Amino acid sequence: MSKTVLITGASSGIGKAAAHYFATQGWNVIATMRTPEKETELVDNQPIFVTRLDVQRPETIETAIQQGIARFGQIDVVVNNAGYGQYGIFEALTPEQVHEQFDVNVFGVMNTIRAVLPHFRARKQGMIINISSGAGRFTLPLISLYNASKFALEGFSEALSFELAALNIGVKIVEPGGTTTNFIKVSEEKIALKPLPEYDGFINASSQMFGQLKAMRLATAEEVAEVIYQAASDGTDTLRYLVGNDDFKQRVNNRLTMPDQDYVNSIKESYLPFMPA
Ligand code: NAP
Repeated sequence: MSKTVLITGASSGIGKAAAHYFATQGWNVIATMRTPEKETELVDNQPIFVTRLDVQRPETIETAIQQGIARFGQIDVVVNNAGYGQYGIFEALTPEQVHEQFDVNVFGVMNTIRAVLPHFRARKQGMIINISSGAGRFTLPLISLYNASKFALEGFSEALSFELAALNIGVKIVEPGGTTTNFIKVSEEKIALKPLPEYDGFINASSQMFGQLKAMRLATAEEVAEVIYQAASDGTDTLRYLVGNDDFKQRVNNRLTMPDQDYVNSIKESYLPFMPA
């Protein structure tokens, strides 16, 4: 019998590429999104079932799971992919922006997991794959909120993996580096606009540092999708899967191997040269 995956945020980018990839590998796919009525590429036909799921609206999560089970009989894997980056200076962000970042990137994941666990417990099996980020492993300037949400997701996922392993339910974390999706555009549109001129020098310097990062080769959504599929199907209990260019992998490795203060200093050294004298 074919396996079934439920993917959140399948309207674009990594989620959409994963929906296509799992389908080509013979899986049933519950491709969920906030506005399925706008979807034109993913066709609601075997083996793909397109339905509504907004991670900020728990009732839509419950309904999507029940519809998916009704359609395919069971769910084997849930990919928590929906997310975005709230960039900008912390002081310029509103409390609503702070809450929304955690609502989508953290509480939305928790809500989805809470909703699917009874099904996984009843089947005595299941797997959860949370899409984190390099920003869940190392910090950068200008993304304190996104960093906070992905660090929270990492800690939650790692600790959850222990209690769910006891129930034969796997938890995995996929950590992409920069990937060519709508993410950068969405994040830049959400950047805080409140003018606080005291930060201008820092923002300009950090933006130049980011410009250098963006000039490096980005992963494609399809490359990330392949790694998500590998995580779903490799039969191991590996917790973390990195996807990205060599610089990205080096940054993660630096965070793991460098003394803490050396790492923090190395990040400062990457934007301080651009600061006005
Ligand atoms: P993307 O193309 O912007 O896709 C993000 C998806 O999340 C969209 O389908 C979006 O739906 C959905 N979403 C946002 N808020 C939602 C909500 N409340 N409920 C349900 N869905 C919601 O970006 P992406 O790069 O594929 O991002 C996917 C994941 O990868 C995110 O968790 C992101 O943090 C992570 N990631 C991305 C990068 C990168 O450089 N691209 C790097 C590391 C990690 P709508 O179409 O309705 O807005």
